[in-house]
Amino acid sequence: MNKEKRWDIFYRWQSANPKPTTELNYDSAFELLIAVILSAQATDKGVNKATAKLFPVANTPQAIFDLGVETLKSYVRTIGLFNSKAENIIKTCQILMEKHGGEVPRDRAALEALPGVGRKTANVVLNTAFGEPTIAVDTHIFRVANRTGLAPGKTPLAVENRLLKVVPNEFKQDAHHWMILHGRYVCLARSPRCAECLIADLCDYKNKNL
Ligand code: SF4
Repeated sequence: MNKEKRWDIFYRWQSANPKPTTELNYDSAFELLIAVILSAQATDKGVNKATAKLFPVANTPQAIFDLGVETLKSYVRTIGLFNSKAENIIKTCQILMEKHGGEVPRDRAALEALPGVGRKTANVVLNTAFGEPTIAVDTHIFRVANRTGLAPGKTPLAVENRLLKVVPNEFKQDAHHWMILHGRYVCLARSPRCAECLIADLCDYKNKNL
């Protein structure tokens, strides 16, 4: 795919949705971090339902740590993998208090050192809470990048590196959200909605569902 096409794709996404953001509900970097940890292999809707009850009761590292792991589990038990996620969250809260003064660090290495936080979660927090031009690659973005030809790659990291190289700077900050929404609602895994797709004429996918 050439530069002009890529620019046009992002320009169209931007025109249609100038201020894209996450569908996870949060009011602070810490709440976002917890929501993203909970969202692995779960829907944003399911996470929002659980955090709507959890955050009014506890939304700081100290408060969640004080709940204890069993009480925390009772708030998140509707979310897949809740046992290990609750354990990771308690350990993460402890590290945030001991090493970061109770704050979420604006630093990739420090974020990735937290239990339950991998590269993707760190990228989401850096991008969405701190405004860094990182591009987290989840299953939707991986699919969209490969299908469209925007940034083909065999692994999420390869796609991330390619996107960082080829996405025009003016679109980098919001690229993650535009691509995730496109994958979630239009370029669906099994049956992409090519007939109603905003970028169909720019997309390189050979088996369009028209
Ligand atoms: S045309 Fe189809 S395959 Fe291409 S981005 Fe749109 S929905 Fe996805």
